[in-house]
Amino acid sequence: MAPKHHPTPLSGGDRKALTKELGRARAMTTILAGQAAEARAKGEALIRQADKLLCESWNERMWANGGPIDPSPTVDQAINGGFASLEIECSRCKTRRDVDLAALRHPPTTFVHDLAGRLRCSKCAKAGPRPSATLLQLMSRPRLAVPET
Ligand SMILES: [Zn+2]
Repeated sequence: MAPKHHPTPLSGGDRKALTKELGRARAMTTILAGQAAEARAKGEALIRQADKLLCESWNERMWANGGPIDPSPTVDQAINGGFASLEIECSRCKTRRDVDLAALRHPPTTFVHDLAGRLRCSKCAKAGPRPSATLLQLMSRPRLAVPET
């Protein structure tokens, strides 16, 4: 790209002032971009913290009361907050498994509570209507990851 042309002022004083302003503007480009990156990193850290707290809040409710499961974080909020895994239990045969949230085919904007009706027990697949999953807790990593069925 050709450098931008600034018409040369007639007076020497104006030429000097233009050179000074150009230097200032070029320096500000770098400074402001650096400040933007810094502000964005702080913002992302705050969002990560908020996502983590939301997951912890949901876990406390699940542990204390077992529900209601709604409201819940979204799948991407859980992952961003450091909870990559969801422990579920089949409401019929009580088999537990850990679901790797990052490996789900559901869109990342799906709420965790919406997974209850979508994650089905493979053991009970042939036993009539497949029961929905009971959601137990979000976890930082799966103990035994089983692909979604
Ligand atoms: Zn089952």
